[in-house]
Amino acid sequence: MHNVVIIGSGCAGNTAAIYTARAGLQPLVLMGKEAGGQLSLTTSVENFPGFPEGIDGPTLVERMKLQAEHFGAEYRFSELTAADLSQRPFRLHVDAEEWIETRTLIVASGASARWIGLESEQKLIGKGVSSCATCDGFLYRGKQIMVVGGGDSAMEEANFLTRFGEKVALVHRREEFRASKIMLDRVKANPKIEMLTNTVVEEVFDPAISNVTHVRLKNMKTGERWERRVDGLFVAIGHIPNTQVFKGQLDLDADGYVVSHGGARTNVTGLFHAGDVQDRTYRQAITAAGAGCMAAIEAERFLEHEGH
Ligand code: NAP
Repeated sequence: MHNVVIIGSGCAGNTAAIYTARAGLQPLVLMGKEAGGQLSLTTSVENFPGFPEGIDGPTLVERMKLQAEHFGAEYRFSELTAADLSQRPFRLHVDAEEWIETRTLIVASGASARWIGLESEQKLIGKGVSSCATCDGFLYRGKQIMVVGGGDSAMEEANFLTRFGEKVALVHRREEFRASKIMLDRVKANPKIEMLTNTVVEEVFDPAISNVTHVRLKNMKTGERWERRVDGLFVAIGHIPNTQVFKGQLDLDADGYVVSHGGARTNVTGLFHAGDVQDRTYRQAITAAGAGCMAAIEAERFLEHEGH
């Protein structure tokens, strides 16, 4: 019987592990498919307080894990494959093999970036392909940037990236945009942004040298194909919260994000949320870490209240 099981090993999960481990609760962390979370996909993190020279995303997240282990947290390279939240202790199916029980559960399973789905794109993640302008935009000062997407995220990222890039090309697969009018108007009014509608990225080059050099584009209306120099490719076509396993048992919004019931609480007593799995707005390492701390404190108080 566990006191606390934490689902996810990004900033939120690791911080929850540090706090609950330090409180003597011996948390178990199921690291999930994308161990280390979104930070493990980025390079230099320059906005996490305490690192004036910046720190590599994977290093930061690994150091958080070491800190949690130092206080007695246990990490498993495992995935939650099913859950029974109908009663406490909660029952969790791990790796489709084994059922374990826990008095409290912290869901910090994050939201995975949606990718275009090209093999070349996947090979170049962190090497010129990014899903986070706030994290990686700074690397492309004076460079050629491309943003893919037609929603508010793509508009926000394109605008933000004009601070760094010499030019930002916004590529969207349709003529009409999903983005709100105000966000779209800002992009249209920005002279550094060129809009390429009815256009898709067909291939990203060059995996052979582990660096983005250019892309091949295709106009969906005319069928025309051409190549364009790109240094940084930002894919902003949405995120998918990792909550499939909880569907029908936990309050989720229409897009699958966990609905907060105040603080880190959910509609299920003893189950707390932390990080991007609930937060579609801020999605930063520091806010996820803060949310992990909140969930840990709530879990600790809950256990104390229950007499454990
Ligand atoms: P979104 O609104 O779902 O838009 C995703 C965009 O990506 C769509 O334009 C979609 O094209 C495109 N797309 C999806 N799959 C694609 C693919 N395989 N290849 C090429 N394009 C693809 O997602 P979001 O922009 O991340 O926004 C999510 C939510 O957060 C929204 O509610 C948004 O309003 C909100 N948000 C708000 C702000 C703000 O207000 N400051 C900022 C960011 C996000 P189609 O249009 O053709 O489907």
